[in-house]
Amino acid sequence: MGDSKRRALAGRRSVLLGMAGLATAVLAGCADGGTGTVPPAPEQDVAADHRRPSGPATPPPSIAAKSSEQVAAARAQPTPRPLVLPNKGTVVAEFAGRKPQEWGLHVTGVVNDAPSKQAALTFDACGGPGGSDCDHELLRTLRRLNVPATLFVNSRWIRTNQALSAELAADPLFELANHGTSHLPLSVNGRSAYGIVGTANVSAAYDELAGNQQSMYDTFGKTPRFFRPGTAFYDDVTAAMTRRLGMLPVNFTINGDGGATFPAATVATEVGRVRPGDIVISHFNRPAGATAEGYARILPRLLDKGISFARLGDVL
Ligand SMILES: [Zn+2]
Repeated sequence: MGDSKRRALAGRRSVLLGMAGLATAVLAGCADGGTGTVPPAPEQDVAADHRRPSGPATPPPSIAAKSSEQVAAARAQPTPRPLVLPNKGTVVAEFAGRKPQEWGLHVTGVVNDAPSKQAALTFDACGGPGGSDCDHELLRTLRRLNVPATLFVNSRWIRTNQALSAELAADPLFELANHGTSHLPLSVNGRSAYGIVGTANVSAAYDELAGNQQSMYDTFGKTPRFFRPGTAFYDDVTAAMTRRLGMLPVNFTINGDGGATFPAATVATEVGRVRPGDIVISHFNRPAGATAEGYARILPRLLDKGISFARLGDVL
């Protein structure tokens, strides 16, 4: 599909609406998306977390060696925005009466791609049992190739990885974004995704958005600009709430690792489809998966083809 046509379709509903709709219909209750004929889940489910051992992440690698480009990028960082969270009572009063019309990955108001000649890689860290590790090999590959990325981090993951989180927040190659307080589907009426019950009402949705936003600001001194809920599911009301709280709700055009379930060859194939304007979702909290190996295979080839990568904040 040409870039201009892609742009024309962006906005209300993405080019992936058909696939997303199928995913929504077929994968409700699916453990983690699998690798069969149905579209895979882009995000990880809490129940599946129990299948892998949990534990703190290993210590972060040194980031002492920085390229001149990274140093220049660090100097170019804009002054951090102050945190301006609207009062909870005000937001509840504004949104409490609204009935959602849509539920899924690509609902009205969610940004799925970027009007840019660059592509954006996004990686989630979901936290919780089995989801609180760190894929250091993947981060090493991104740093070695000087490929920027946006990292969506959940409150639980930050708590388990405090030193590492601070290191990532300070690295100009990366940008941290908000992946929710409790890693819940973002609903105003308790809708579920992949068997996980979403936030029950506007008040709970506010807490899921604002809890991690306040915590990230307090911890890192920066106000996250972007949000993606656990499971990546929203309704159209919570997508609007996300904007009201000062964040852009962001999903994706390419599901790079199927919740870290894809084998390396599939990761390489899916990420290999990336074109300017695409937003790719993958994970950096599952080192036992094949996400790192898939990216190590495909990123050099994409760079050779002239694909340029940017953080979401550079293209949105
Ligand atoms: Zn997640």
